Amino acid sequence: NSISIKTPGRTYPVYIGSGAIEGLGSYIKDTFPALTNLMIITDETVRAIHLPVLETALRGIDAKVCTVPSGERAKTFEVYYQCLSFALEHKLDRKSLILAFGGGAVGDLGGFVAATFMRGIPFIQIPTTILAHDSAVGGKVAINHPSGKNMVGSFYQPQAVFYDLNFLDSLPPKEVRSGFAEVIKHSLIHDMNFYLSLKDNIRSLEGLPSDELSGMLTKGIEIKGMIVAEDEKEAGVRAFLNFGHTLGHAIEAEKGYGEWTHGESVAVGMLFALQLSNKMLDLRFDVNEFRCWLDQLGYQTDLPEDLSHSKLLERMKQDKKSEGQNVRFVLLKEVGSPVIHQVSDDFILQELAIFLK
Ligand code: NAD
Ligand code: ZN
Repeated sequence: NSISIKTPGRTYPVYIGSGAIEGLGSYIKDTFPALTNLMIITDETVRAIHLPVLETALRGIDAKVCTVPSGERAKTFEVYYQCLSFALEHKLDRKSLILAFGGGAVGDLGGFVAATFMRGIPFIQIPTTILAHDSAVGGKVAINHPSGKNMVGSFYQPQAVFYDLNFLDSLPPKEVRSGFAEVIKHSLIHDMNFYLSLKDNIRSLEGLPSDELSGMLTKGIEIKGMIVAEDEKEAGVRAFLNFGHTLGHAIEAEKGYGEWTHGESVAVGMLFALQLSNKMLDLRFDVNEFRCWLDQLGYQTDLPEDLSHSKLLERMKQDKKSEGQNVRFVLLKEVGSPVIHQVSDDFILQELAIFLK
């Protein structure tokens, strides 16, 4: 199966399915006949479990493997610098190719290395997490600065995405939940029927059948693809992808990356955005029913108790997307119809105090 992502600069394929990786070797040989060198950027965890499958799929193409720490620790200046040094030592040039093999962290790092090495060389995303159905598509690549996440980056689209769902079999439950939150997000901002089909059919995230997984990830990628096609650089509708992220990012940052996963934080952020949407935009959404479903799937559905509301508010105000004084939330007029809405500090604090009560 393949989905085509259209951006002003480039149209590229997302090959998705069990065994999708098998087409990689011939794709590279066909697309890059003059290839000089190939560098794989992957993390310790993914390397240990899945590298042999990737190497087999390369069908004899020689690859240099640059291994970085797992998780958010990959997105630092030090690791970025090490990747550039590795590329130089192994004599990559402008006719070389980078494969970013891992979750969203490796994808963001690998994409930024590709975007900046010799002013940009091609790269292919090979996502290995559910979350990366989101991050591998759309061309946002970045590393973190100590004072903020994704503060240094670029818009740089991959040549292709090879999403082999067999890699997902080894994901720990916490990471499955993290990624599935973004699938729910895609449904809520774009497609009521998709949301209802998720809510009615998915009762547990353990042992999801591969056809079900494939269907929902395909749908999620199609929605992301449509939004990115319309607004690659986030001048407008792309901001809707931040649904649940205003509070979500604040929780993640306050808790320290890792303790709460991205998706767990976004799940609580979506609950809050839905509460605000009900009050401010007359959305009649059954937030309690949604919360029970999330609860059943193993999500945290309360604000972490140890976090001060005023600190969360401060974090939200530092958001890259905030303009001027008021925090801007993505709210829903209806499921499938997002809008950007400014919310006053007082109202945010008032609603945090009665979170889902
Ligand atoms: P991640 O890359 O940190 O992966 C999560 C953990 O799972 C890591 O420890 C990793 O080693 C492990 N892992 C990866 N694949 C595995 C597998 N198949 N089996 C077992 N373990 C595996 O995180 P993520 O959740 O995939 O992505 C989060 C990152 O993505 C964040 O840095 C976030 O900022 C970024 N992101 C980017 C975009 C974008 O548009 N660029 C969108 C959303 C999120
Ligand atoms: Zn996200």
